[in-house]
Amino acid sequence: MSEREAVRNARVRSKIVATVGPACRQRLGELVEAGVDVFRLNMAHGTPEVHGETIRAIRGLEQQRGQPLAVLVDLAGPKIRLGKLLQDPLPVERGQHFRLLREGPPQRDVDLTCSYRQLYDDLQEGDAVLLADGTVRMRVTRRAADHVELVAESWGEIRSHQGINLPGVALRMDTITPEDASHARWAVEAGADFLSLSFVRSVLDVRQLRRIIEEAGRACGREPLQHPAVVAKIEKREALAELEPIVQAADAVMVARGDLGVEVDVAETPVVQKRILAVCHKYGRPAIVATQMLDSMQSSPRPTRAEVTDVANAVLDGADACMLSGETAVGAYPVESVAVMNRVLHYAEQIMCGRGAVLSSEATPRALHRITAAVVAGAGVVAEQADASLVAVLTRSGATALALSHQRLAIPVLGGSHIPETARKMCLYWGVEPVWVDGQDAEGDGSKVLLQRAEELGWLEPGARIVFVTGQGVVGRTHNEVAVYEVPAE
Ligand code: PGA
Ligand code: MN
Repeated sequence: MSEREAVRNARVRSKIVATVGPACRQRLGELVEAGVDVFRLNMAHGTPEVHGETIRAIRGLEQQRGQPLAVLVDLAGPKIRLGKLLQDPLPVERGQHFRLLREGPPQRDVDLTCSYRQLYDDLQEGDAVLLADGTVRMRVTRRAADHVELVAESWGEIRSHQGINLPGVALRMDTITPEDASHARWAVEAGADFLSLSFVRSVLDVRQLRRIIEEAGRACGREPLQHPAVVAKIEKREALAELEPIVQAADAVMVARGDLGVEVDVAETPVVQKRILAVCHKYGRPAIVATQMLDSMQSSPRPTRAEVTDVANAVLDGADACMLSGETAVGAYPVESVAVMNRVLHYAEQIMCGRGAVLSSEATPRALHRITAAVVAGAGVVAEQADASLVAVLTRSGATALALSHQRLAIPVLGGSHIPETARKMCLYWGVEPVWVDGQDAEGDGSKVLLQRAEELGWLEPGARIVFVTGQGVVGRTHNEVAVYEVPAE
């Protein structure tokens, strides 16, 4: 095998999230083969029926491959969009005047309408209104009885139904719209593993989503461990101002650079990304870096130098996963994009292992017990000093695997659980290879299944040492347990 081929086949420890869309819906198996761990279904596009079909296809693949795969359902949140323009696309000149109407259809080319009826009430003189992904900037100059007047401060082009960003405007709109709430209930029933919320502004938004999930979970008879984990998408200034509580209240975080790069100065996004990832590490929350990671690959089979550098730097900054959006959803090279990302991550990992954090119990009151934190910290040391070739974890909630993941050990980690939903959540945890330890040895000892999987992966040589770690509530009477096992030498 050539070196390039070996890299192509290498199991990468950083995770890949791919957005499903028309470009890849029929090619999900190829995407997994190329390295996808988590599929993202974007509720801003497509109906629950179509997404439901996709979830069934993913579960089929999971069965067929004997490999857990996770589904992330992404709620659109309060995204405000332009209404229909009379002239579409509409060129915008600097200094040109526009009107945002309170209601009614546009009368002239320069009349704008939008999907949020109260926008007229929320805008004040001097507010900035950003259109076309932030490329067209307008400013409110005057409030009139039935419209607000805007002046363009940059030139460009706008189209019907494009998103509107209003940095600094205090919107009275709820973060979770009635449609989001109904999508969230659907996602719980459909068995989503992660549920992300766009445009989070406060810790209350995260708590509200969790309440909706808990209620929906009870209604359809799912145990709490089977509920989707809550992912807070950080893309508003308000969220940055309340970052620590939001990260603590969520189970995972997404650095949503698309809208973030409009809401804050785009030049500031690299620094904001590092700050968000540092807070995620502090509290032991997995993090996804999203948007434009390999953007040029929507139309080119090759990435730019800057894009591959961005992917590598994201995991070096501490991200657990990198996300593909348009590249896999609508691009011309969905499988190639995943393959490129996988290769970049492989090389990045050569210089990052062992640079992680040992989590303290204070850091993660929601997920991690004091004793678990201590045992996991010790297990990492044991594994390194005993020269182990594998750390195998058996966990109910996944908290033990997540704490190990944050150590960024150079040694491979297998994460086993008897609960399929827990195994799937581990698809997002850096460096953890998830294994569903089904029925057979449900009495607590899943070691046989884990060893078998390690063998399949070619991780066990004669004489190899394995460190077993069990999470809370796995082995009777012990809290957590660490054991060192040696494969008999031939
Ligand atoms: P979106 O979120 O693609 O749903 O807008 C990601 C982002 O804003 O980066
Ligand atoms: Mn967004």
